[in-house]
Amino acid sequence: MTAATSLELDRIRADFPCLDQEVNGRPLVYLDNASSAQKPRQVIESMRQVYERDYANIHRGQHSLSMRATAAYEQVRGKVARFLGTTNESEIIFTSGTTAGINLVAQTWGRRNLRPGDEIVLSEMEHHSNIVPWQLIAEEKGAQIRVIPMDDRGQLDLEAFAELLGPRCRMVAVAQVSNSLGTINPVAEIIAMAHRAGARVLIDGAQAAPHLRVDVRALDCDFYVFSAHKTYGPTGTGALYGKMELLEAMPPWQGGGDMIDQVSFTRTTYNVPPMKFEAGTPNIAGVIGMGAALDWMRQIGLDAIAAHEHRLLERATAAISEIEGIRIIGTAEKKASVLGFWLEGAHPHDIGAILDQYGVAIRAGHHCAQPVMQHFGLPATARASFAVYNTEDEIATFIEALRKAREFFA
Ligand code: PLP
Repeated sequence: MTAATSLELDRIRADFPCLDQEVNGRPLVYLDNASSAQKPRQVIESMRQVYERDYANIHRGQHSLSMRATAAYEQVRGKVARFLGTTNESEIIFTSGTTAGINLVAQTWGRRNLRPGDEIVLSEMEHHSNIVPWQLIAEEKGAQIRVIPMDDRGQLDLEAFAELLGPRCRMVAVAQVSNSLGTINPVAEIIAMAHRAGARVLIDGAQAAPHLRVDVRALDCDFYVFSAHKTYGPTGTGALYGKMELLEAMPPWQGGGDMIDQVSFTRTTYNVPPMKFEAGTPNIAGVIGMGAALDWMRQIGLDAIAAHEHRLLERATAAISEIEGIRIIGTAEKKASVLGFWLEGAHPHDIGAILDQYGVAIRAGHHCAQPVMQHFGLPATARASFAVYNTEDEIATFIEALRKAREFFA
């Protein structure tokens, strides 16, 4: 690592109060970033400022606090639009996260457009939140779920995908990056193939938005979703991007305040997007915190973040490969941030507990991707996942702790 990079890393780490602590008597090494990232001071401060100075309910307020809160909140729509690569802020709907965004599309676009016998194509590596919402609407509408298979490296089989793209395929919903395998899927190609077959495409960007530069217009996806808590922002916030012509044609999902135009007991008319899909008082401070997180990422530089994390992933992959009895789960050619593994003779939960004794936080389990576990014939995997604030020294600590865990089980 160059001196310039390490200096910058010190500065980056200084922004994260949570990283500066000991766990079980050791400096915390936080490698559970794919679950949720830690929050920089700037995000915490922005939310504190809202609650201490600028807090009031937003929209339709005549007093100064409400107008301030509304302006700060609505400003984030532009930040999310720029972050995702659209120039039309009205294509950005604030949600409570990825799960809410996918459910919204399934319950509105899906309810309006799916007919009995229609097909929804998912991939074998989807998170449960990009499976179950589609199953729910498919069951209701008599549609079928079809699945793009993957190989044993965790790469999607695009030839099999091409064959799934029949005339009944209406929706293709895939992750840009897999949370359990780290695979970066060729979504541009998937979107182009789906569009040629007349299907719409939703991209689950939960694991991509923190690590890759996203450009929804260049990708030409129809919908894109992400969660702020994985992009250094607060929990309970996120966004759905949808092409305007689709959002306009979709019925509302939840009814309530803000999503209406006129209400009477005989007839209610609805607001235009994005408000049509934002019923009720939203997570005001959370959305403002999401904006601060995107500012923070932009200031560090999205390409610099990706390059640093890629180096960490390569370093960790090389080091872990030298440990006897380790099998890396997810060896795709293109990967981001996630290192899943299985240690012969040890349950991943036990590895997680032992690593915690060394201050190293990883995750173990099915990672809400049970079909992936079924593919590999495993009950669970252990997963280290990296963020911009992680260091090569931390990778060394992680590997050392893993070696100790292996000795324990040998
Ligand atoms: N999709 C992927 C690929 C994920 O990794 C996650 C969370 O881990 C989700 C969806 C669900 O995100 P959330 O729980 O923030 O809604």
